Amino acid sequence: MTSRTCACAGCDSPTASRFARYCQRHKNHMVRHGHPEQRPVSSTELKPYLKTVETLRRRDPSAPLWPLLSSRWEAIAKAAESVANDSTHRPSREAAKLVLGIARDADAAKVVDTALACFMYREAQPNTFASENAFDFQMVRRVRNLAPTNRGQWVNPNTGKTHYAYPFISPRAMAVIAKTIRDNFSLPAFKLTRRLEAEKDAKAQERAAVSEAIDSLDITPKPKRITTLGAREVATREIEAKEISIP
Ligand SMILES: [Zn+2]
Repeated sequence: MTSRTCACAGCDSPTASRFARYCQRHKNHMVRHGHPEQRPVSSTELKPYLKTVETLRRRDPSAPLWPLLSSRWEAIAKAAESVANDSTHRPSREAAKLVLGIARDADAAKVVDTALACFMYREAQPNTFASENAFDFQMVRRVRNLAPTNRGQWVNPNTGKTHYAYPFISPRAMAVIAKTIRDNFSLPAFKLTRRLEAEKDAKAQERAAVSEAIDSLDITPKPKRITTLGAREVATREIEAKEISIP
């Protein structure tokens, strides 16, 4: 029997089992990141998009949008309370417990901003995500990391850097949370992006109009204007002429 190799491009490792598509490493990655070739998305990558949302908040802090979106998250957390204890569906229970942990540790505004930033990031850089599923996993991980309660930490003795380890979330629970976040925040993020683009377009059009107006400005030198005589000067000269003509 010939041994099969991993289905990931460039990976020559044997598959994890006779029937598996991927090697053990890519299989593990699939379970943690939603796709065997999805790299984890860092908070640093998300920062510019988070900044955009935070800037919008600062510019119009009393806008009704912000409490409306916070209410959506608070409703998700409220619904999670009963699901966490009573649901017979295991992934839903796991998802609800995670939501409760996030709600306990993080401000609603922070959760909302992170979710919006994730969707904005995907729109701006779709190639960062290997699949829709991979995006869901990264988005949930970014939101989940707002809750430090359950994470473990360790310091790398070589670099002195602190690393955090978060508990494993099953792919099915991931799917439950991702769907909830998507249902509530993907459309607002999409519309915010459109609004920002329209603003950008308007500014670009104004710049183009100014640039065009500069191009069409007539800057060729004109011949000097011959100054016409003023009325008083004309009258004076007429008188002078008369005086001269007197014999
Ligand atoms: Zn592989």
